[in-house]
Amino acid sequence: MNGSTNANDGKAVNGAPEHSTVLVVGGAVVGCFTALKLGQAGIDVTIIERQPTTSDSPRAVGYYGAAQLFMDEVGVYKFVRDEGFMTRGLCWRKRPTDDGKGGKQLGDVIARQHLCAPDETVFEVSAGQLNLPQADLNKIVLRQALKTGHVKLHFNTELVSILHNEGKDVTVLVRDINTNVERKLTATYLVGADGARSQTRKALGIAFAGHTWPERLIATNALKYNEIQVDLPTWYTMDRVHYTITTPLEEPVLGKKTLWRYTIAADPADTRPDEELISDENIFKHYENVMSGPRPLQVQIEARSTYRIHQRLASTLRKGNCLLAGDAAHVNNPYGALGLNTGILDADALAEALIMILKEQYPPSLLDIYSDERRKVFQFFVDPTSTQNKLRVHSNHEDEAVQNDWFFRLLQNPTYQELKEMAKPYFETWRTNIRKLAEVIQLGSPIHQ
Ligand SMILES: Cc1cc2nc3c(=O)[nH]c(=O)nc-3n(C[C@H](O)[C@H](O)[C@H](O)COP(=O)(O)OP(=O)(O)OC[C@H]3O[C@@H](n4cnc5c(N)ncnc54)[C@H](O)[C@@H]3O)c2cc1C
Repeated sequence: MNGSTNANDGKAVNGAPEHSTVLVVGGAVVGCFTALKLGQAGIDVTIIERQPTTSDSPRAVGYYGAAQLFMDEVGVYKFVRDEGFMTRGLCWRKRPTDDGKGGKQLGDVIARQHLCAPDETVFEVSAGQLNLPQADLNKIVLRQALKTGHVKLHFNTELVSILHNEGKDVTVLVRDINTNVERKLTATYLVGADGARSQTRKALGIAFAGHTWPERLIATNALKYNEIQVDLPTWYTMDRVHYTITTPLEEPVLGKKTLWRYTIAADPADTRPDEELISDENIFKHYENVMSGPRPLQVQIEARSTYRIHQRLASTLRKGNCLLAGDAAHVNNPYGALGLNTGILDADALAEALIMILKEQYPPSLLDIYSDERRKVFQFFVDPTSTQNKLRVHSNHEDEAVQNDWFFRLLQNPTYQELKEMAKPYFETWRTNIRKLAEVIQLGSPIHQ
């Protein structure tokens, strides 16, 4: 998707700033899901996106639990199923070992976590893990949002500042990246879905407390021949320093080449600049330790980047008529894929609250419930779970992990009931039912009273 995709191209009409009911800052996955759900309810949305197109950078890949249910409700699941592929769960492995023929074989499995039955082939919505690179999901969601006829998007347009955020309207200053021309836009509500470095959050003066982990992650996409078929092709390689996530970006077929994501932790004591961490030499040094297969390795690196990982939460997700969602609101490490999926579920809850306010006359204080409840989800579920997921792969010696860690012990031979209990929070805690909460505290609209 490229250029400006909209009805009136953002030109001021009669000198007045262009007005939209909801202005979304950031045309990535979270911004587009928010716009899609609002657009489906007949609410006019303008998205502004700094980049000239949707991003192609290697980022999140897997969607599961309640995120799949939401995708289905807004009609996106079937497209992601068509373009993506399903896997049945994930596992933890030791590092690869010598195969006796000069190459390496996959390391022993420490534990397997099934997200559906091991022989599942039908995959009801919410079963298994649905995989599709974030860049492709972004294109699908944007396409569906534009199809509602209520959503328009201005690429090459960035939020500069928030000029007014009191009373019924928000006024912002935006800049055209190509011409450097600044102009004002107004909206009834503004949603900042502009990522971890959110200009919306900064302009609102909202703190982003938490911590940054000491190590950088090296994310690489590698085209690699599949010499064996593995049952759970997403696995964590346990290592005290260079712990690694391996996951396929397309369905792996035995005897063919597949694009795989290898995300490898750099040593926290390694102070070399990013360019050196992503050099061929450094990446192949790591591949030698974490990749199975004959030597010399026949692998092509298709994409590479380093990134810092954090656990941070905005001090509020609402200020006046401005809201935060996705990485603008909270960030966490990628262990357990709790980043983008949480953002997708923010989009669901926030759009629901805005629909109730704009279409059903619920009071704007519903937005405080959005802020409080999504912050609780981060504080009590996403933050501790992602933190423990990460520590689990590098704080235990791989030979002692099963003995020491209840989680690995439980996965050795779980009952159906135990697996169900483990899955429960990914449905009941992760997703926020704004409508139910409004009922519980009797925040009824005048229509319902
Ligand atoms: C290398 C990498 C790998 C990752 N891997 C995983 C993973 O495996 N699993 C997982 O769950 N998560 C992963 N994540 C995190 C995941 O990508 C994020 O949680 C997700 O991208 C958040 O989506 P978002 O829409 O909130 O923000 P973003 O995807 O960051 O999008 C923000 C958008 O806002 C735009 N923007 C920014 N500022 C402005 C402005 N001032 N005006 C207008 N537009 C603006 C940006 O151009 C961008 O398009 C990874 C992240 C990285 C960097």
